[in-house]
Amino acid sequence: MTGAYLPGNSTVELKEVAVPAPGHGEVLLRMKASTICGSDIRCIYHEHLGKGPEGYQGVIAGHEPCGQIVKAGPGCRRFGEGERVIVYHISGCGVCKDCRRGYMISCTSEKYRRAYGWQRDGGMAEFMLAEEKDLIHLPHDLSYADGAQVACGFGTVYEGLEKIAISGNHAVLITGLGPVGLATAALCRKLGARRIIGIDVVQERMQLALDLGLCDEVLPSGADNVAAVRAMTGGAGVERAVDCSANDMARATAIRATRKWGRIVFLGEGGRVEFNPSPDIIHDQKTIFGSWVTSTWLMEELVERLVQWNLHPAELITHRFALEKVADAYSLMASGKCGKVAVCFDEELR
Ligand SMILES: [Zn+2]
Ligand SMILES: [Zn+2]
Repeated sequence: MTGAYLPGNSTVELKEVAVPAPGHGEVLLRMKASTICGSDIRCIYHEHLGKGPEGYQGVIAGHEPCGQIVKAGPGCRRFGEGERVIVYHISGCGVCKDCRRGYMISCTSEKYRRAYGWQRDGGMAEFMLAEEKDLIHLPHDLSYADGAQVACGFGTVYEGLEKIAISGNHAVLITGLGPVGLATAALCRKLGARRIIGIDVVQERMQLALDLGLCDEVLPSGADNVAAVRAMTGGAGVERAVDCSANDMARATAIRATRKWGRIVFLGEGGRVEFNPSPDIIHDQKTIFGSWVTSTWLMEELVERLVQWNLHPAELITHRFALEKVADAYSLMASGKCGKVAVCFDEELR
């Protein structure tokens, strides 16, 4: 089979490798959709910058996989051949405190924690091995491309929004309208947010947020953003803010444009932020949350809600590529002039 590797010089290498055989508790998936994440570009594609959980160990890339089981190894207890599944993208040890809570992202076992597409082979190949315990059932109402979007992006956003508890009382500010920002807007709509304001620097992304009806207003990033958001919200600011940009200035904007008693969650990774604790959070009784990926149980809950809401995350995929064209997919994603970018197979490509 063909698999895609990222040598770390802004190129993609395709190699022929043997189709793996599932061992005990493992399944072999026929890949159907595999989306590209901002973290693939940030930590792997241009240069292998990641350390620890973000260290890339020269494996088949792709940590947002969705496919169909073609073979179940011995000892599988729930899933079997023919089933459609999402892969929760970090395989934890399964028995540490964090794994037992479903947060395999935070697995503390140095020996057993391995993320797909980082430390073990991921979804940018025709077939992929996954552990049964990492699988989430994909309902028939959702496509494989919907599922790939859940594997990392939508799951991560859902977790963050659960932490700050979005409701119909809230105006929400989203800083950064890349795939994670757009997913935030899509979920905030379904959670009932009253008004959704987005900020970005890339014109294409701002336009996409408006065209898809995800944001009510968009602002180009600038020094007057806080004043503009306050003016849009009766002078007080938004009740909730979500940073999806990882940009220093945008994070400060998210904090300062949030009103008294408001909540802010940081999803964007890397970078820094500078703010003045007393005027910016303490005196206004604000709370800043950090949120990293999600748990297997919350991912299952999200999948159920997506069906109830008739929300299809694949609608945020603006470009689909065949595996042979995977190099074009990564270079487009690196340009930022797109929504979500996916490598697709079979029915997902037609
Ligand atoms: Zn990701
Ligand atoms: Zn663990």
